[in-house]
Amino acid sequence: MSDAVEKMMRPSSYNLTEPEEATRLIFENVTSVEAEEISLSEGYLRVLAEDIYADQNMPPFNTTAVDGYALLAGDGISPRQIIGDQTAGRMTDQTVVPGTAMRIMTGAPLPPGADSVIMVEDTSEDGQTLSVNKNPPLHDNIRPNGLDLKAGQLILTAGTLLGAAELGLIATVNKPRFQAIRLPRIAVVSTGDEIVEPGEQARPGQIYDSNRFSLMASVRRAYAEPVSLGIAPDTKAGLRTLIEQALSEYDGLITSGGVSVGKLDLVKELLEEMGTIHFGRVNLKPGKPLTFVTVEVNGKRKPVFGLPGFPVSSLVSYELFVRPAILKMTGRKALHRPMVQAQVEHTIQHSKDRNEFVRAIVSEQYDPTTQSYRYHARTTGAQQSSRLLSMLGANALLWLVPGSEPIAEGSHVPAILVDRAEV
Ligand code: AMP
Ligand code: MG
Repeated sequence: MSDAVEKMMRPSSYNLTEPEEATRLIFENVTSVEAEEISLSEGYLRVLAEDIYADQNMPPFNTTAVDGYALLAGDGISPRQIIGDQTAGRMTDQTVVPGTAMRIMTGAPLPPGADSVIMVEDTSEDGQTLSVNKNPPLHDNIRPNGLDLKAGQLILTAGTLLGAAELGLIATVNKPRFQAIRLPRIAVVSTGDEIVEPGEQARPGQIYDSNRFSLMASVRRAYAEPVSLGIAPDTKAGLRTLIEQALSEYDGLITSGGVSVGKLDLVKELLEEMGTIHFGRVNLKPGKPLTFVTVEVNGKRKPVFGLPGFPVSSLVSYELFVRPAILKMTGRKALHRPMVQAQVEHTIQHSKDRNEFVRAIVSEQYDPTTQSYRYHARTTGAQQSSRLLSMLGANALLWLVPGSEPIAEGSHVPAILVDRAEV
């Protein structure tokens, strides 16, 4: 028997790992990359890597919350002599004494002596004298020094995902630069002698590379930086060169193709020589040959995800297992998509012995009686793992556990909502 035939007939030597166990193994072996110093304008959706404290009180002086007049509450409703204007952004050397008032603009420091601010709307003036139409309460409309933040107060902790309010706070405490987790750089390689770069001339028997572009887009969607390393041939030497380059320069590697049991599926074999295989098959459809490896490079443990070659298999296994790992590398804590129970609108055939993740369109309907949403699902048609069209418009993966009966119309199944922005 030839080597080729023998290899084709040999069952894979890797145990079939359950999806939950595969996820556990990935999380156990993947950590966030290190921090770097970044500027405020680069901070959106990055993960903070230092604690942030208030440098001083906020507001740093007593100030007014409204446009109006700074005065003394004790003068009651008596008219006051207007002694000047207090605009925002400067201190004044004038003091408000009984019988006087100063015009004051929102955000301006309260002049010495004043103990209340009356809103413009509650007053009238002739240019020199202020009349008030109500008794101003003591301390009214004053934002005292330190109302919002106290000097030394902890305001954000390392690990916080930076959004609008967080970045505003870091700016408030005058930290133009700070530590954040670096964006992981993930190399993406396609493998296969039949795979050709789009734009080049395909020989008979060749097809264009789609996986690398889908996977790079997916990496970008997980807030990391994809790096294209092109197409590796089905030779050990060619694959080894690209894998070594990827692991010496980048934080992780995603390959597609070459992980099943054909004679030229060399990726697993090679990775076994280079690092530790945590799993080499997952109880999954599509995506069974998914392989997860770590390789020690210069004291760092770098993850390699060997995805199957079929376009849908690679994208579905990426979504379920690689995406959470990359999010973890960015320092994020929210790693999973939301999962809901969806009612299927038609009968669905599914695998008897594997967890099947079926591409579906889930629609949500608000139910006012329960004040919650109800979800309905229908599949995107033929589910072959080569048919990338089955991913179009899909906003969910229905998780169908192995079973001999079809899923009956009207039953509820778990649906992973893959179009929700996870931040
Ligand atoms: P493999 O996992 O290498 O056996 O590939 C399985 C199937 O996926 C084969 O039909 C390949 O031609 C196809 N395939 C592999 N890599 C790619 C790719 N990068 N883009 C499109 N199809 C691919
Ligand atoms: Mg191949």
